[in-house]
Amino acid sequence: PRLANQIAAGEVVERPASVIKEVLENSLDAGSTRLDVDIENGGIKLMRVRDNGGGIEKDDLPLALSRHATSKIYQLDDLEAVATLGFRGEALASISSVSRLTVTSNTGEESNGWCATAEGRDMQAEVAPAAHPQGTTVEVRDLFFNTPARRKFLRTEKTEFNRIEDNIKKLALSRFDVSFNLRHNGRVIHSWRAAHSQVEQERRVAQVCGPAFMENAVHIDIERGDLKLWGWVALPTFSRSQADLQHFYVNGRAIKDRLVTHAVRQAYQDVLFHGRHPAFVLYLELNPATVDVNVHPTKHEVRFRDSRMVHDFLFRSLHHALAEVRP
Ligand code: ADP
Ligand code: MG
Repeated sequence: PRLANQIAAGEVVERPASVIKEVLENSLDAGSTRLDVDIENGGIKLMRVRDNGGGIEKDDLPLALSRHATSKIYQLDDLEAVATLGFRGEALASISSVSRLTVTSNTGEESNGWCATAEGRDMQAEVAPAAHPQGTTVEVRDLFFNTPARRKFLRTEKTEFNRIEDNIKKLALSRFDVSFNLRHNGRVIHSWRAAHSQVEQERRVAQVCGPAFMENAVHIDIERGDLKLWGWVALPTFSRSQADLQHFYVNGRAIKDRLVTHAVRQAYQDVLFHGRHPAFVLYLELNPATVDVNVHPTKHEVRFRDSRMVHDFLFRSLHHALAEVRP
């Protein structure tokens, strides 16, 4: 079973940032409103995420860490050569197969919590009592300690930390109702309080994307039928060329999509004669039955049932909003 998990891990656990993404998504799934992330040495030495969500029952703890699957590959080295086996939706098991993983959790029904650990190939999770308030702490140490080939692909600590930070920013822009705290090597990097009003949301966008973005941004809020587009787009006065300041969410999930990029760029070009690197933070909401956001668990792809209609809606909405404020 552990070998199958290591195969799955190849797909989902590429680097520290992919671990953080999975762990934080679990915390959000558990209804957390506060996330504390501690990173050491770019995440290679330690990633610790503490949440205040619903927690994991004692009996479920070992299951969460190790799932059953079969494999016909028996050598770890073979695994590192396998490229294209599908991810099975077993993130924690995958993470535990390539790190030293500790999960401590309390569902709030008992005064104390429970703690389980798993280490590399040793998937036997042992459960022991541990002090913990309601919620869960996931601690990932020594990533890839048992898969040196993968470890070699890691970049500098700074680069790996930047990727972690990028993933947290992406999540922070999708969950204004959750507070995020991020520390690296003991230093506070970000501390973002939950944002409820539009003013508070704009403060968070300024914190995440930089004040210059917000100062030059137009607020958008357009609804047509069951399509809704809201968020912020920067005018050309936001001069930094920012290919990376393009955040687009479909029903709350970050996606990258050519159709979307194209529609946004076209609207900018049409109205402002400037479309090379538009900067935006946009949220598209539509009937979940008309979109498939699970094309691939890690690639942020999306498939619209009526892509022409979505493209039109995006283009027209942005065109309208930009034309109103054209300098
Ligand atoms: P998946 O999210 O696909 O179910 P994971 O391996 O990511 O698989 O997580 C396994 C299970 O562990 C989850 O289904 C959930 O029940 C539990 N779990 C993981 N992290 C948390 C958390 N922070 N809070 C509560 N439950 C959690
Ligand atoms: Mg998960």
